[in-house]
Amino acid sequence: MANTETQSILVVGGGMSGLTAAIEAAEAGYDTYIVERNPYLGGRVAQLHNYFPKLCPPYCGLEINFRRIKANSKIRFFTMAEVTSLSGEEGNFDVTITLSPRYVNDKCTGCAKCAEACTMEIENTFNYGMDKIKAAYLPHVMAFPMRYVLDPALVTSDEAQKVKEACPYDAIDLDMAPKTMELKVGAIVWATGWKPYDANKLDTYGFGQFPDVITNVMMERMASWSGPTQGKIIRPSNGQAPETVAFVQCAGSRDENHLPFCSGICCMASMKQSTYVREQYPDAKVYIFYIDIRATDRLEDFYTKVKEDEKTQFIKGKVAKITQDENGEGLILRVEDTTQESLEEISADLVVLATGMQPNTSENPLPTQVLYDDYGFVASQNAKAGIYAAGCTRSPTGVSESVQDGTAAALKGIQSIARR
Ligand SMILES: Cc1cc2nc3c(=O)[nH]c(=O)nc-3n(C[C@H](O)[C@H](O)[C@H](O)COP(=O)(O)OP(=O)(O)OC[C@H]3O[C@@H](n4cnc5c(N)ncnc54)[C@H](O)[C@@H]3O)c2cc1C
Repeated sequence: MANTETQSILVVGGGMSGLTAAIEAAEAGYDTYIVERNPYLGGRVAQLHNYFPKLCPPYCGLEINFRRIKANSKIRFFTMAEVTSLSGEEGNFDVTITLSPRYVNDKCTGCAKCAEACTMEIENTFNYGMDKIKAAYLPHVMAFPMRYVLDPALVTSDEAQKVKEACPYDAIDLDMAPKTMELKVGAIVWATGWKPYDANKLDTYGFGQFPDVITNVMMERMASWSGPTQGKIIRPSNGQAPETVAFVQCAGSRDENHLPFCSGICCMASMKQSTYVREQYPDAKVYIFYIDIRATDRLEDFYTKVKEDEKTQFIKGKVAKITQDENGEGLILRVEDTTQESLEEISADLVVLATGMQPNTSENPLPTQVLYDDYGFVASQNAKAGIYAAGCTRSPTGVSESVQDGTAAALKGIQSIARR
């Protein structure tokens, strides 16, 4: 029988699929480590306003997972951490983890005194750059762990000492340096998830040029009470309420020049977001421009419900180009309505590009040889003997499938250890 050290399981990525894999493995009695690149756990769903189809906030589900982690001494997690080398074989892997400095230790109570003392501001990546935060920051209001982070630019600035002295708990350590840590594990779950496709690459849609062209992930933050507008959906150009909102499906997806595949969830995400708009603005008009609507299984009911809204119009046709109107105020979408066989120009105040999900492994592959598909997803759940891929590392998918996949990957890891 293997020694106890090599019976442990490493989970890389602390999003929905990784958290699930780690919790299931730990609750089955295995020592489990989570390695997460962000300063908090939860992955991309922590940035969502509501989940389709129930339209409930993701934080309910995340909170339950965090409670299970806190209650289980078999799970250890490391944030701001990445696997920088991996060797060995099934049952006996040697892993090097590199931890970036947070400059804040575990004495932090989240009191915000450091942020109050800090004047330096940085781009708020949690809100996809739509606002700024202090360089001494909590990653987001519900962050787990609830601990501040100091941006490296602040640490080397003249302000650093003042911010350190503002902390009543001696929680700031300006001398923190990157650290490495060695682990021996028996099996690995790889769950590093996805990132939104870069809308700057879609040159006919004017993203980055017209402020009222935003992406679906930005819409999630804008609709959230903890987002840059405290939940108010506005036109970024002037802060006004939009009267017409257009959702552009397959923005870069199913397109050989960008992401050739369908992400499967973007139709549902846009329909969900149309309800955000309609709830806030009962008079607003919504257009959804699509190639095909993908709403499988029980999600069809949600599609039916959205279609019943007389102010939401589905137009089958791909948007070719987005320009600004003559006054430079509104946006014009040029589109072929394929059911009417007509070319249309439709005006909107706010455009939401439904960009797809690009696997993080396409740019940041595993530090060991595994097979990928043509788009950079890990080609199979059994990535390699002892290494199992889960969630959006494997295919673009929704949360419930990610949870199922994380559970399956945990079982594979346990079986791998039990086999030895
Ligand atoms: C606009 C939009 C709206 C959506 N709305 C819904 C919805 O309402 N309902 C629904 O079911 N689904 C929705 N989804 C899909 C949902 O976001 C995914 O199903 C979910 O994020 C998948 O979780 P995951 O753990 O596989 O990946 P992720 O959430 O991406 O988590 C991966 C984690 O791995 C970390 N990581 C990445 N690289 C590394 C590395 N090298 N080392 C360590 N850690 C790393 C990341 O920081 C992240 O924490 C939506 C998607 C989009 C685009």
